[in-house]
Amino acid sequence: MKGFAMLGIGNVGWIEKNKPFAKAFDAIVRPIAVAPCTSDIHTAFEGAIGDRKNMILGHEAIGEIVEVGSEVKDFKVGDKVIVPAITPDWRSIAVQQGFPQHSNGMLAGWKFSNFKDGVFAEFFHVNDADMNLAHLPKEISLEQAVMLVDMVTTGFHGVELADIQFGSTVVVIGIGPVGLMAVAGSKLRGAGRIIAVGSRPICVQVAKSYGATDIVNYKEGDIVRQVMELTNGMGADRVIIAGGNSNSLSNAIKMVRPGGAVSNINYFGEGETLPVPRLEWGSGMAHKSIRGGLCPGGRLRMENLSNLVKYNRLDPSKLVTHVFHGFDNFEKALMLMKDKPKDLIKPVVILD
Ligand code: NAD
Ligand code: ZN
Repeated sequence: MKGFAMLGIGNVGWIEKNKPFAKAFDAIVRPIAVAPCTSDIHTAFEGAIGDRKNMILGHEAIGEIVEVGSEVKDFKVGDKVIVPAITPDWRSIAVQQGFPQHSNGMLAGWKFSNFKDGVFAEFFHVNDADMNLAHLPKEISLEQAVMLVDMVTTGFHGVELADIQFGSTVVVIGIGPVGLMAVAGSKLRGAGRIIAVGSRPICVQVAKSYGATDIVNYKEGDIVRQVMELTNGMGADRVIIAGGNSNSLSNAIKMVRPGGAVSNINYFGEGETLPVPRLEWGSGMAHKSIRGGLCPGGRLRMENLSNLVKYNRLDPSKLVTHVFHGFDNFEKALMLMKDKPKDLIKPVVILD
């Protein structure tokens, strides 16, 4: 089969591989809609997860089942399925600890285009199909569904980690697709004021449509000062980091009030350590919590998120700015994610 792969750090291209096969609990899926992710760019061009040779990229897909293992109960060949980016090993201690994302190792629930071939291929393998796949409801479009598997679950996880309360003043730093879903999730969770930190006009416009009440442009000066001014010196109750670099973390700690929470879903790609500003962290005593996490995957998460779309609570298709048709466009879509033109939020490739 054909797949679009990372050949080595900084080098991508088409390769031929054997079609994967399903063991007893697994499924083999043919993608029908895929999306490239900023993480694919970190992986392929920045070596974020180390060197990988000839590893097929991609971890965001909706597909059709072409093969199931002998023990799979709820799915059959021909079923259309939502495939979460994170597919944990459900028989693991980390699951009993409440963190399936880290089943069998830190971040090891992330398998596609990390520990095994990803979804930019004619076929891909899904472990534990009954626990990791969700049926695609007929009311949901492919564009909406493919945003659930990583963008929505990640942005919403930022909201969960921040523990947003009714009426909270929330800052979302970075309003690419993940941050935009953090804005939408904050609104759903009952935030009062949502301050979105971004600059590109298309992202600002979509942020407002998802519920941002204020916009702070990080290209127009210190964002801590701007947020402090907007909040009359009080700071925010919650800050969600979904973009930028390690300065985003120190800025978040500075702008959150004592007793508030910083949540991080961003990937920090540089440095041995991350900065915690000592004084603004109350010399260690400000009760400002910092939590960061890999997005939840698995079947129940996808079913719950798809309910939000099915019952008109959320329309993630506003993230989709570019739609391509056909296998050959994987590369074009991936390169858009790398180059990030002004009018891009997220590209999708439909495989008709
Ligand atoms: P993106 O690059 O499309 O969006 C990030 C946005 O932040 C961009 O719009 C960029 O212009 C903006 N930005 C850059 N510098 C900034 C600054 N100093 N202040 C404010 N905004 C700034 O990426 P994305 O797809 O939205 O993903 C966001 C992050 O989440 C990435 O690091 C990605 O790797 C990570 N991610 C994490 C998970 C997870 O499970 N935790 C899952 C998916 C993606
Ligand atoms: Zn991703």
